[in-house]
Amino acid sequence: DGGETIESIRSRHRDAAADVVPEHTQLYIGGEWQDAASGETFDTLNPTTGEVLASVARGGEADIDRAVEAAWDAYDEEWSETSRAERQALLTEIADRVEEHQEELATLETLDNGKTLMEARMDVGGVAEQFRFFAGATNSQSGHTRDEPGVHGEVIREPYGVVGQIIPWNFPLAMASWKLAPALAAGNCSVLKPAEQTPLSVLRFLEIVDDVVPDGVVNVVTGYGEEAGDPLSRHDGVRKLAFTGSTAVGKQIMRNAAENVTDVTLELGGKSPIVVHADADPEEAVGVIAMAIFANTGECCEAGSRLFVHDDVAEPILEGLIGAAEGMTVGDPLKEETDVGPKVSQEQVDRTMDYLERAKEGGATFLAGGDAPDDEALSNGCFVTPTLVEGLDHDHEAVQEEIFGPVLEVFRWDDYDEMMTLANDVDYGLAGGVITNDLELADRTARDIEAGYIWVNTWHEMSPGLPYGGYKQSGIGRELSVETLDYYTQAKSVKYGLD
Ligand code: NAD
Repeated sequence: DGGETIESIRSRHRDAAADVVPEHTQLYIGGEWQDAASGETFDTLNPTTGEVLASVARGGEADIDRAVEAAWDAYDEEWSETSRAERQALLTEIADRVEEHQEELATLETLDNGKTLMEARMDVGGVAEQFRFFAGATNSQSGHTRDEPGVHGEVIREPYGVVGQIIPWNFPLAMASWKLAPALAAGNCSVLKPAEQTPLSVLRFLEIVDDVVPDGVVNVVTGYGEEAGDPLSRHDGVRKLAFTGSTAVGKQIMRNAAENVTDVTLELGGKSPIVVHADADPEEAVGVIAMAIFANTGECCEAGSRLFVHDDVAEPILEGLIGAAEGMTVGDPLKEETDVGPKVSQEQVDRTMDYLERAKEGGATFLAGGDAPDDEALSNGCFVTPTLVEGLDHDHEAVQEEIFGPVLEVFRWDDYDEMMTLANDVDYGLAGGVITNDLELADRTARDIEAGYIWVNTWHEMSPGLPYGGYKQSGIGRELSVETLDYYTQAKSVKYGLD
């Protein structure tokens, strides 16, 4: 690997960090940078080098209280009076600023999360796109009237006021934008809690837009889930909660929300099936499948993680996939030639390895990967090689549960109905995909998969305007579309008495 050593990678990362780590790693409340009430901090680590990137404020209940109060002050004093055009201008300005700082934000994301620079650049491009999309979407935000002889009434849509938003570590800034853009477009103020593993890009983003966003409209409380996320989800001043993360925590958030009958949208885990028909072109199929599972080191809720490949094309496709997995460059995500960066944390490596161990005990055959890369320079990082597994029973826990790593489980089929029964035999229903050149088969399979988002001959692409969200235990609500604004507003009917 060009003579890389632990020290050469560390030195590259320290140099990059010196340029991009935010100046402020405190809480952002009411437009001011503040320490946690407890005065405590926690470290965020670089998963490539194992070194500390920054010390960040460890927010707790008292900080959540202050942030919710600051958000209501901003809402009552100013934000609730803004026009659609003003919010549109603000969201557009945010998008411009993000684009001006794209490379810096992408580098920071790579340092804190471990995703490759190329992946991080795409994320940041998507962040700007979110703000632009919802700036435009405000134009379609309208109520309606009911009007007939003797009856006149109207339905107006009003923001909730203050919303609470909790996001994960796999797409840190992108997830922040998926939450903030529609919330602000609809006229709400937000209290946002980033994941403890990856708080830095959101903080840098707020430094960049600090003079654009009125004080208190966006508040960020960094900290751990149980210390900062939990009180946010129980707060009676929060009128709407939006969460992305694991299904287990999503259920807990929903229970907490029940205490105040707070509205909730959830975007949870997935275990999405890739269905390959007999007519698929093996080479094209391999490209789509490798991207579906290995992009972002498998840390995608929508990853295609269960492959159902037709017997007729199984051999060439599996051979191609083994070549693709073994041919990927696993390494320093700051280097342009790297395909697969580290996972976000050692905890996530241990979790993946634990599933692989149980898969082995369950009789799995490893067609590729399944271990750490054989490279001393990477030994301090959270690396896992791209992995292909075959031979597991479909009810094995490694198949049923979300591994969230670069691990693809292979099943061959020749009977469509039996295959589809298995494809749908998981608690999740976030996404799915079909690879075929037959339009009728594509349509049939897209309809048969129980999931909220289906890709035909591609994966991961999400265009704003196409709603994104889960069936079954993958969630409630839809993001990325005009209708998302409905999830951030409530309907009020006004009936006029006419004699
Ligand atoms: P998580 O659900 O624990 O964390 C997501 C967010 O919720 C973080 O901000 C976290 O601080 C917060 N949180 C945790 N506990 C909370 C609580 N009790 N109350 C309020 N907020 C809380 O996810 P994780 O532990 O980081 O990852 C575990 C697994 O979840 C992963 O391995 C993966 O399977 C899944 N996951 C899914 C997604 C997704 O996009 N669907 C994202 C991240 C993780």
